[in-house]
Amino acid sequence: MTKEWLIGAVPVVIIFLLFMGINIGPILFIALIGALLYFTLNGQGPFGGNKRSKTSHEIKESVTTFDQIGGQERAKQELKEAIDFLKEDQLAKDYGIRPLKGILLTGPPGTGKTLMAKAAANYAEAAFVAASGSEFVEMYVGVGAGRIRDLFKEVKQLTEEKNLNRGIIFIDEIDAIGGKREGKQQKEYDQTLNQLLTEMDGMATNEQPRILIIAATNRKDMLDPALLRPGRFDRHIVVDLPDLTARKQILTIHFKQKPIDPKCDVDQVAKDTFGFSGAQLESVANEAAIYAFREKSPTITMLHISAAIDKVMMGEQTDKESTDEEKKRVAFHELGHAIVSEILRPHSVSQVVLTPRGGALGYVRQSPPKEQYLYTKSNIEEQIMVCLAGAVTEEIYYGERSTGSKNDFEQAMNYVHHMIDTGLSSLGIVTLEHLSKEQIQKEADAIISYLLEKTHQMLKKYDPVFHDSFQILLDEERMNGERFRELLHGNKNVKEIS
Ligand code: ATP
Repeated sequence: MTKEWLIGAVPVVIIFLLFMGINIGPILFIALIGALLYFTLNGQGPFGGNKRSKTSHEIKESVTTFDQIGGQERAKQELKEAIDFLKEDQLAKDYGIRPLKGILLTGPPGTGKTLMAKAAANYAEAAFVAASGSEFVEMYVGVGAGRIRDLFKEVKQLTEEKNLNRGIIFIDEIDAIGGKREGKQQKEYDQTLNQLLTEMDGMATNEQPRILIIAATNRKDMLDPALLRPGRFDRHIVVDLPDLTARKQILTIHFKQKPIDPKCDVDQVAKDTFGFSGAQLESVANEAAIYAFREKSPTITMLHISAAIDKVMMGEQTDKESTDEEKKRVAFHELGHAIVSEILRPHSVSQVVLTPRGGALGYVRQSPPKEQYLYTKSNIEEQIMVCLAGAVTEEIYYGERSTGSKNDFEQAMNYVHHMIDTGLSSLGIVTLEHLSKEQIQKEADAIISYLLEKTHQMLKKYDPVFHDSFQILLDEERMNGERFRELLHGNKNVKEIS
């Protein structure tokens, strides 16, 4: 309001003074200096940028506790231990333990790194100030560095205000300011990172309040080694994608306050959500509640949860009106994926769906029967065969492929490159960068043609299953894993290959 008033009043006053014949030069000069000072102190404009509220978000009371984080037992344990050094610094000193200055949380997006930092602040009974690395990225040299200085000042002020003797600074997306300095970075980046390093070096480990910095990144490989050296961010905690047990815990946490049908099988939901992050699991619980709300259903059922999983995995249902011929082709294509998946990895098919979602006209939701972290050559070949099965089925029943296999082929090629890279191809143990594009392509062609043929031979034997399942899938648009397995294994005309 004051701003608008000033914008209107200033020209009026200038015109009035000119009209009176007064020399307004000196007045204008003083006004300009005043305005610059005003904006600088308020953190706006090229000379400012340091106002506290603009640089960081202060979280006065973190209410998150470690109990509200599902899984991540090891990460929680390590973080708690680091905080214990902060809380019991005298005891840590007696053991001669060097106090920690920085903890780096690394892991894929949505795995709960921010949640961890908040829980740590709560557990530590510390003042907590959070900022994101991107807030420090500015065009003007020195502004980011100024904001880093302010962040440290801010946490100290907050500890004083709250009468606490420790504080935690959380910097999310630290890679935005802590990327490797390889000579090509801008001066502004360098200054911001240098300021962070200087502040960390200046943090005397015996002075009060004790400050701990927790940073998070999805790209640890991008960080400047100076940040990672002992005495700075030297404790690295991996916050990984949740395994089966952790997924169950996270789902239980997020379904806790929701009217879930007691018949819902959370174990099955955990199995069906292989590869989901904590954030995606939270989204599944939320979307399932939305589906139940839309139907005015008193409880959230397995059907709502299943639709929610599809939505999170594939995107919102689309109104794509495909022709009958396209629908039939998609049905064959998806059944091809499902048959090969189930034959090679029994119990891996969870749903075969013909509803268009995201960019796909249909899809097979797979959940691996067991979670594994090491893959043999045969395991990867099986995954490639599952990818190729859709296109092979189209060839068998329509004589040619369609454009619908683009994503399948991309995925298959990723597996092929992984095979070559890990020394599982006929090229032997190689460094991918030392191979020419032609060599890689030749090897990829050989692998793909061999597996296309193998998939073809396999699928030919399942013609009766295609015909039994095809009409059901067209009519009902969805078939769950159990039903599909009954059709697959109940068919006596199939001559399974060994
Ligand atoms: P990013 O790297 O993208 O910043 P992040 O790892 O910091 O993500 P969070 O912001 O902590 O992830 O998580 C997002 C949301 O996902 C949380 O608010 C929470 O609802 C849910 N979530 C993630 N992990 C867990 C978990 N382990 N337990 C319970 N909820 C979780």
